[in-house]
Amino acid sequence: MTALAEQLRRAGFRVTPQRLAIYDCLHEADDHPTAEQIHDVVRRRFPRISLATVYSGIDALANIGAVRKILRDAHSARYDAGSEEHAHFLCRVCDRVANVPMPALSDVGAAEEIGEVIMVNVEFVGICAACRRRKLGLNPVTEQAT
Ligand SMILES: [Zn+2]
Ligand SMILES: [Zn+2]
Repeated sequence: MTALAEQLRRAGFRVTPQRLAIYDCLHEADDHPTAEQIHDVVRRRFPRISLATVYSGIDALANIGAVRKILRDAHSARYDAGSEEHAHFLCRVCDRVANVPMPALSDVGAAEEIGEVIMVNVEFVGICAACRRRKLGLNPVTEQAT
């Protein structure tokens, strides 16, 4: 049994091949897919899997901290399985979600006094560099330093 399966089982979740496939899909993706996009990928292996099953699988994985949920708004969460603690930059224009390196906030004493930290979720919302250049009418290619 893999460590992930063991973690799910210990937290009281059923371990199913579909749930493990959802994790694999997120682990391989680097573009922070939506539940619908995950559904499209996992459906290739499990043609009968429903979107609701994908959501409950994501919830189980998020519950044990194996998957992080990036909440853009209530209707379009994005996900990743990055094990490294990192923050996210959400572009309001193109919907891109970029990873931002972050110091280990789970070590912050104040949080640990309140309880056990399973996941840290830091989100920056704004306009990404590419969209900003487009908005300002600049060439998308990086300008040479003067
Ligand atoms: Zn953008
Ligand atoms: Zn990420």
